Amino acid sequence: MILPIVGYGHSILRKKTQDITKDYPQIKELTENMFETMYKANGVGLAAPQVNLPISVLVIDTDVFKGSYPEGEGWKIAMINPEIIESSSDTWAFEEGCLSVPGIHEEVLRPREVKVRYFDTDFNEHEEILSGIRARVFQHEFDHLQGKVFVERLSNIKRAFLKKKLKDIEQNKIRTDYKMIK
Ligand code: ZN
Repeated sequence: MILPIVGYGHSILRKKTQDITKDYPQIKELTENMFETMYKANGVGLAAPQVNLPISVLVIDTDVFKGSYPEGEGWKIAMINPEIIESSSDTWAFEEGCLSVPGIHEEVLRPREVKVRYFDTDFNEHEEILSGIRARVFQHEFDHLQGKVFVERLSNIKRAFLKKKLKDIEQNKIRTDYKMIK
C-alpha cells in the first residue's frame, strides 16, 4: 500500500521518534508499505515520520547507486530502533534530496563511516560498520528519527537562498508525482 508523504514544515518532522517493541503491530507490513511508497516516489530511503508515524523505523535501498558507488549494490534494508555508536572524523560532501523536501538538492557534509546498531523486522539485533553511500543514506534517514531534515544542516546563507522554495513546500504549492499529506 502506498502511503502519503509528509512535507517539510509538518510538525512530525521536527519530533524525535520513539523506539518500538516486539509488540508493535504488523511491523513487516509497515516496512513493506514504506518500501513500496519509497520506490513509487523514486526515493532511496524513507523514515517513519515521513509517513506520519513518530516511531524509530526506516527503510533504505541504495542499489540505484551501484554504478558510481559499488558499496550501494543490493543493499536493501529495514531498520528498527537504529543507533549510531561511532562516527568517523573523516567527512565528505554529497548532494542530498528528500521526498519531504521536493525540488531541493544540496550538498551536505557527513562522516564517511558510521558504526550502527539496529534491529531487523524479526527483532534480531545487528551491529555493523557502514561506509560510503550506505553511511550517507543511513545518516540522512537517521536524522529524520532525531527530528532533523537535511536542509537544517545547511549553512545559514544557503538556507536563506532556499527560503522561498521552503515556504512554497510548507504551503503545499509544490507539485510532486507522488502523494503528499496536505
Ligand atoms: Zn529525507
